[in-house]
Amino acid sequence: MQNGGFRLGCQGPLQSAFQGLWVSKEGLDAAQEKWVEPFVDTSEWEYFDLSCQSRDQTDDKVLHDAVASGKRLGAIFKEPTITPTTEQVKEFGLKKPFGSPNGAMRRGWNGITISRDTIHIPGIKLGFENPVFFERHAVGGEYGASWKGVGKGKVLTTFWPENEKEKPTIVDGRVLHDDESAVVVYDNPLDNVEDLARIFFDRCLEAKIVPYVVTKKTVFKWQEGFWQKMKKVFDAEYKDAYLKAGLLDKTGGELVHLISDAATMQIIRWTGGGFGMACHNYDGDMLTDEVAQVHRSPGFITSNLVGKNEDGSLIKEFEASHGTVADLWHMHLRGEETSMNPLGMVVALLGAMDHAAALNPATQAEVTKFTVSVREAVYEAFRTGNGTRDLTGPQGLTTEQFVDWVADNLAK
Ligand code: NAD
Repeated sequence: MQNGGFRLGCQGPLQSAFQGLWVSKEGLDAAQEKWVEPFVDTSEWEYFDLSCQSRDQTDDKVLHDAVASGKRLGAIFKEPTITPTTEQVKEFGLKKPFGSPNGAMRRGWNGITISRDTIHIPGIKLGFENPVFFERHAVGGEYGASWKGVGKGKVLTTFWPENEKEKPTIVDGRVLHDDESAVVVYDNPLDNVEDLARIFFDRCLEAKIVPYVVTKKTVFKWQEGFWQKMKKVFDAEYKDAYLKAGLLDKTGGELVHLISDAATMQIIRWTGGGFGMACHNYDGDMLTDEVAQVHRSPGFITSNLVGKNEDGSLIKEFEASHGTVADLWHMHLRGEETSMNPLGMVVALLGAMDHAAALNPATQAEVTKFTVSVREAVYEAFRTGNGTRDLTGPQGLTTEQFVDWVADNLAK
């Protein structure tokens, strides 16, 4: 795909979703045309083009509109987007270095968690035998950091309470001795960790998965709060059910905390799967990329943002965990064959449709029938050796052949 497509969406029956840009014939633009359009009325889907050029032309109004639409509709499908680098700002001739669309959505939808799970194709062993679930805290940490490059001197970080009657507190004071240092300030908001905990523990319990909480709190002492909140919710609301389900048999009957560096090793060793990890924003970003590698391809991982509206209803945004597959896009522009695995994006689009139907149950049975049959048709392609080359090797199908194979199967 080009430099950042997006289709938002989803209200109503088979009239869901959003869009940005399926500009290329890579993957899902063709998939939507051949797998979805013949069967589904998409006329009420709302589309937004979040490419850098479109954001530039609209002075980023398009992103604001997309976030407002998502908040209103509650069910969203999003393609990967680009946060332009300094070089890309020049390359695309942009007015300014636009910020991350994902960050704007996480803030705009009161993002709680980005749930990332392995996708499994019945009948084929990928990296993990059983599902692996991740809950990545959607806010805070390094992504929201401010920083400055400075020289020798002193740094003082002060907290000023909202209530002006309370006295300010010094958070940190330090002396910098180097000619050059990077000074960084960030915070970890903790109010929605309990919501994250409930989403995580509900999901793991339903799928019979052993939950772990991952931090580096032994050294990064400020991460203790995340663990404490997770444990409090677990002990008060979930422990009994987990004990009854036998899911704590291997963890001494307790919720277990894993240090993040130990977690990186376990992800490679625990190829049986059947475990879940909840963690801070940056750890979740890194660890889920590792999961993607063990599980054969970033095309086999979901990435779903869960946020909350003021009325308490959940906003769900579905996407694949991978980026814009820029290398394949450039091969495509050079006229070379590509083999992009669209499964992560397809599962996301179908997930958005399922969620839209859950919000509007009148059509749920009809929607479910469709989404199940598309998922099955894609699985069938992989099962019969007609998969993309990330799984099947050099004899696998090209992007276009794969889309046509599934379309033919759906039409039967
Ligand atoms: P990428 O995930 O696009 O690609 C990494 C590698 O994996 C590439 O070699 C690619 O060909 C391969 N790959 C990824 N998904 C694949 C699939 N479905 N089928 C076959 N091969 C696949 O990551 P990148 O190259 O580091 O990033 C490209 C751009 O995407 C960057 O601008 C980055 O900022 C952006 N990005 C966006 C998101 C998002 O919007 N959610 C996430 C990650 C990266």
